[in-house]
Amino acid sequence: MSHFASVEMAPGDPILGLTEAYLADPRPHKVNLGVGIYVDEQGRIPLLKAVRQVEQALAAEGKPRGYLPIDGLPAYDALTQQLLFGADSPLLAAGRVATAQTIGGSGALRVGADLLKKVLPQARVAISSPSWENHRVVFGHASFEVVDYRYYDPATHGLDFAGMLEDLGRLEPGTVVLLHACCHNPTGVDLDAQQWQQVVELVKARDLLPFIDIAYQGFDEGIDADATAIRLFAAAGLPAFVVASSYSKSFSLYGERVGALSMVGADRDEAARLRAKMKQTIRANYSSPATHGGALVAGVLGSAELRAMWESELAEMRERIHAMRAGLVEKLAAHGAPQFGFIQQQAGMFSYSGLSRAQADRLRDEYGIYALSTGRICVAALNRGNLETVAAAVAAVSR
Ligand code: PMP
Repeated sequence: MSHFASVEMAPGDPILGLTEAYLADPRPHKVNLGVGIYVDEQGRIPLLKAVRQVEQALAAEGKPRGYLPIDGLPAYDALTQQLLFGADSPLLAAGRVATAQTIGGSGALRVGADLLKKVLPQARVAISSPSWENHRVVFGHASFEVVDYRYYDPATHGLDFAGMLEDLGRLEPGTVVLLHACCHNPTGVDLDAQQWQQVVELVKARDLLPFIDIAYQGFDEGIDADATAIRLFAAAGLPAFVVASSYSKSFSLYGERVGALSMVGADRDEAARLRAKMKQTIRANYSSPATHGGALVAGVLGSAELRAMWESELAEMRERIHAMRAGLVEKLAAHGAPQFGFIQQQAGMFSYSGLSRAQADRLRDEYGIYALSTGRICVAALNRGNLETVAAAVAAVSR
C-alpha cells in the first residue's frame, strides 16, 4: 500500500481548465477572454524593449549566477520602494520601510501571510467580496480565518462603498484588511482618491492593519496615480502597514517571478526588526529570490534612459486597455446593448461584465468566446481584430 494512497484528487484551476478547452476548440474565430495576462494587438505577451536592452547587456557580460541575498538585490528593493511610496517619501527618508524582493507578488503575499501569522496569531484577515481567489487560498493556507467585506455591487456594476465602510467598521481592531490598490481583480472596480481617504480614516480609527496588494501599478492612470492608496496610508501617519507588489504585469515578466514585500514600521528600529523577520520567513519558504528577473527590473529602473523607455511602454499598454474598453462599449451600443457603459468606468485588465454563468456558457458554446463563469473578462485580450466578434456575441447573448 502506497504512503500516498489516501491522497484525494485536488480540484483543478478553473482558469487553466478554460484555457485547455479554448486551445482544443477548432473554431477559427475563438477568443480567450479568460486569461489573466496582458497581450498586445497581435495577441502576444510583449517583451518590453527596455527589458530586452538590459537582458542583452546581461547576456554580453556573462555574469556567474550566485545566490542573491535573502531579501534580494539591494538596488531592486530600493527602487521598488521609490516606485511604491514615491521618491521623496518621508517614510523612506525616516528608514521606516523594509522591502524584500520576492518570488512574484504571490511570494510577497505568502511571506507576508506567514510572517503576520507568527506576530499576530489571533488576527483575522478581511478580503473584498469578491477578490482574487488566491487571497483566500494564501491566507487560509497560512492558517488565518478569512472573512469578506462587501465591495462589488452587481446592481450598479460598481462599488458598494457604503457596504464596504459598514463592514470594515465592524471588524475587530487588529484585523488585517487586504486592499487592492488599483485595477481590482476580478471586478475592475476601484475606489477614487476621496473614497480611499475615507477608508484610510476608518482603518486608522478602528486600528486595523492594511495589507495593500498592488499588482497592476501603471495599468490604470499611471505609476503615481495608481499608488494613491499607498501614498494616502503613508501620509495618514499609520504606525504600520504592509504592501505586496508585483512587476509581472507592469514589466510583462510573468514567468520571471518579480515581486516585493514592503513592511512599514513605526520607526527605523521597528523596520530593522521587520526586515530580520522577513528574512527569517523567506529563509523558511524558498531561501532567496531569483536572480534574472530582479536584475532586469533593477537594470531598467536604475537607468534614467531605460526607465523613461519603460514608462512609455507601460503607457502604451495602459492606453491600449483604455482604447479596448471604449471600443467594446461603443460596439456593444451599436449592436443594441447600450447597458454596458460601466465597462468604461472599470479599470485595469479585468471587467466584471455582468454576464451570468448561463450567458458565459452560451458565449463559449455558440460563439467560441471564453469568459469566466463569474462573468469576468480580460479586457487586455481584446484587439481591433476580435472586438467586433466579441461585441456582437456579447450583445446577442444579452438579449
Ligand atoms: N495580486 C493580484 C490581485 C493579482 O491579480 C496577481 C496576479 N494575477 C497577483 C497578486 C500575483 O502576481 P504574481 O504573478 O506576480 O505572483
